[in-house]
Amino acid sequence: MVDWNSVERKWQTRWAEAAAFETDPDPTKPKYYLTVAYPYPNSPQHIGHGRTYTLTDVHARYMRMKGYNVLLPMAWHYTGTPLFAMVERLKERDPELVSTFTNLYGIPEGKLATLETPEAMANYFANEIKTGMQRIGYSIDWRRTFTTVDDYYHRFIEWQFAKLKQKGYITQGSHPVGWCPSCGNPVGQHDTVGDKEPEIEEFTLIKFTKGDIVFPAATLRPETVYGVTNMWLNPDAAYVEADVDGETWVVSAEAVEKLEMLGRKVKVNAEFQGSRLIGEKLTNPATGKELPILPAPFVSPKNATGVVMSVPAHAPFDYVALEQLKRKVRANPEAYKFKPSDVTPLKPISVIELSGYGESPAVDIVKKMGITDQSSPDLEKATKEVYSVEFHGGKMRGNTGQYIGMSVQTAKEAVKKDLIADDKASTMYELIEPVKCRCGDEVVVKIFENQWFINYGDEAWKKLARENIEEMEIIPRELKQEFLNVVDWLKAKACARKAGMGTRLPWAPDWIIEALSDSTIYMAYYTVIRLLNELKPKPEQLTEAFWDYVYLGIGSPVQVEAETGLPMEKVEEIHREFEYFYPLDARHSGRDLIPNHLTFMVFIHDAIFPRKHWVKGIVVNGSVLMEGAKMSKSMNNIIPLINAVERFGADPLRLGLMITAEPIKDADFSPELAKSMGDLLDRIYARAQRVSSEPEPEGYELGEADLWMLSKLQGHIRDAGEAMDELRVRKAIHAATYDLEADVEWYLKRIEGDRDHEDRRKAIAHVERAVVDAQVRMLTPFAPHICEEMREMLGGEGFAAFAPWPEVDGALVREDAEELESVVRGLAEDVANIVKVTGIKPSTIHFYSADGWKWKVYRMAMEMQAKGSVDTGTLIREAFKDDEMKAKQKEVPAFARIVAEEVKRMPEATLKLRCEMGAVNEVKLLQDAERFLKAQFGCDVSVSAESDPWAEDPAKRAGRARPFKPAIYVA
Ligand SMILES: [Zn+2]
Repeated sequence: MVDWNSVERKWQTRWAEAAAFETDPDPTKPKYYLTVAYPYPNSPQHIGHGRTYTLTDVHARYMRMKGYNVLLPMAWHYTGTPLFAMVERLKERDPELVSTFTNLYGIPEGKLATLETPEAMANYFANEIKTGMQRIGYSIDWRRTFTTVDDYYHRFIEWQFAKLKQKGYITQGSHPVGWCPSCGNPVGQHDTVGDKEPEIEEFTLIKFTKGDIVFPAATLRPETVYGVTNMWLNPDAAYVEADVDGETWVVSAEAVEKLEMLGRKVKVNAEFQGSRLIGEKLTNPATGKELPILPAPFVSPKNATGVVMSVPAHAPFDYVALEQLKRKVRANPEAYKFKPSDVTPLKPISVIELSGYGESPAVDIVKKMGITDQSSPDLEKATKEVYSVEFHGGKMRGNTGQYIGMSVQTAKEAVKKDLIADDKASTMYELIEPVKCRCGDEVVVKIFENQWFINYGDEAWKKLARENIEEMEIIPRELKQEFLNVVDWLKAKACARKAGMGTRLPWAPDWIIEALSDSTIYMAYYTVIRLLNELKPKPEQLTEAFWDYVYLGIGSPVQVEAETGLPMEKVEEIHREFEYFYPLDARHSGRDLIPNHLTFMVFIHDAIFPRKHWVKGIVVNGSVLMEGAKMSKSMNNIIPLINAVERFGADPLRLGLMITAEPIKDADFSPELAKSMGDLLDRIYARAQRVSSEPEPEGYELGEADLWMLSKLQGHIRDAGEAMDELRVRKAIHAATYDLEADVEWYLKRIEGDRDHEDRRKAIAHVERAVVDAQVRMLTPFAPHICEEMREMLGGEGFAAFAPWPEVDGALVREDAEELESVVRGLAEDVANIVKVTGIKPSTIHFYSADGWKWKVYRMAMEMQAKGSVDTGTLIREAFKDDEMKAKQKEVPAFARIVAEEVKRMPEATLKLRCEMGAVNEVKLLQDAERFLKAQFGCDVSVSAESDPWAEDPAKRAGRARPFKPAIYVA
């Protein structure tokens, strides 16, 4: 049994001592540069992070073995505000946070007081993450580490923004953003509970009226205003009557703050319960019709204005609610302050025509799905379906005035525009779904004045991004379209905030550049930080001219020296290091970052760098499940990476994370899986130990079984290499372990009795060594520590990490040997079956190989088939041209018929191979396998050609022998 932790420590120490993964430019070697996200250090990494980061390391290690000078760096992303909120919770000794810190992360109680600043907390976790990455064996160049609040980094990001501004990609204006009222900051995906992107939509507020009082109903489907049957208000919620920009509005009490956030002037005059308004009548501004206000406990006062129009023909929710209300009113009319006649006659009013559906699609779908209750979870699905089919295929009906015949898609905008122009509607930004800030408060939409944006909506810029994505290698390939879709819809994105850690906007220093905007081209920064750390310039020496020369080759080192005082040789060296490592060959990331980070990275590279330095590849990963479930603190199934390494060993953990990792799909990790990976590596290690105890042999001749094993090995090497080229790691691991192991198992059984024979023993030692050597190298990217150990044991020179990835040796690919072995294997299986079925305890097994004339007929048949198609009659006539055949007037036609049938069914590859192999000496083949067959069945084995005069054939079986199918008699 391998002691994982001691093997890990041994090799991690040796790698560190040899500075094995510190990568400098080396003009004699091709480079390969890859990166993975620098972590935000607000917790240690756990198994859930393990997949993306381990795959990146596996990729780096593979490319190193393919002969590349590989750079894999790592840094820390301190930018943003979440750490501030955590520090606040820590200061208050929030019991949940304290429990996570002490119980899950193992931070001693006494240490908590030292983590009470954002920097201290970030430093602490950065150090934890680094330790975890070292313990799991990532091959990182740690000299290039930095944080995003370092002075040099600030200078770099300032340069990035100066470039974007010069190119006209920075704009300023008012814009709705997700906003946390408690934090007083815009909120992005990284700031929310569950990493939910706050998605903002512009709702239309349709002004239903009662006299001068406006009831603004929020909707995403203004074109359905012609189908409104009634209004909904929540009778239990608080509503207000308020002056809003000079009109009197009735909205929910919660809507007041939202309207203010959106820049409206609001003055509340009165507050009351919704129930007060139930039964009142409002006028539909589009039709002039009167509609009753009906009670709707399902209307959330938190959602937009809290005033909702009811369109049962096109909104499944409204239809179900209305029908349910009708039933209740009929059953208990006294409970309501309106008359049953206000409700019962209300019928869905269809305003959209949709082929394939009846009068009203919403009613159809609700009935089809059998929904009768508002609480049915299917309602959401029904709503989405109706929305989608009507949007894409619907046409406005005759009851919609001037919009008749218009597609829903067009009418939606037209109705909205016209109502607004007539002052019958307004708009309001609102989140599509509620989102919570990490601080616990609800996110709202705020119109941000004078906000700075990166204008990803710029069409000319989008064109560059599309060109880049088209040329780029994206793994898995099918995600390319997803990137192109993001490019299509991307709009201007707010890029700075008023709070948090980060770099200040150079032209507006009261703004701090936010986390998704200062992390787009930092891959270029890794290539210069090593020399900056050596040179130690003052931050102010890193001017625009410096970066312009280093990254863009603009100006000259002489000019830079004149301006900054930095020695020009060093400036030139920094420039050359960047030019050596750039472009970035592969960026690894999770799929959730396609709509933001990954696409932003493409845009900003394309804006700033010349085409030759655009990003060349992106690798997108799925996530990891723990025993089939999502990992989360509430599920109590998060294991920090360091704990997992201690528990399972780094190599079994890495293998366990990788073996279930199909591209994009979720990988399912479990402790049992890690354990079984440990067992697998244990077995391979034990074999390596045995093999290494025998010296590399000299002077031997390989037998058929040996040739077979070596040939099969080439197949697995080919499979593993092809899979690795597309980072299909699951397939690669299977080839290097299970598939190869199955063949090794057969081989070991096959040569079991041979070891006592000196000539065979050497040949076997050679084969086993070749197998283990290749297997160790194929497993090195996945299980680097134990593979170093095994390679050292086998006498390999240098680190396994830099050993060449095994390549297929064409001379060892012996399809003929594989074909012959399958004859032996087939015979062994047949005998085993006979023994099983008959229950005979064999004393002798007789094998009879086909006579020479049969081989002649067989080859004739194959050649005919190869040229077109074998025909039995022609085959027989041709056969009889041979003198030897003439003596076999009966046997030849009978045999020809059998053979013609067999050959017709033969796969083309087999046909070609067997044609090339010609007549096979099966007697020799079986004699070589005698020891194996004897050992297998514990009896004597006799081998002869079917017509050998000495052949014993009491049961008259010999005549059944066919090429590649010797006859068997079990006695
Ligand atoms: Zn907040």
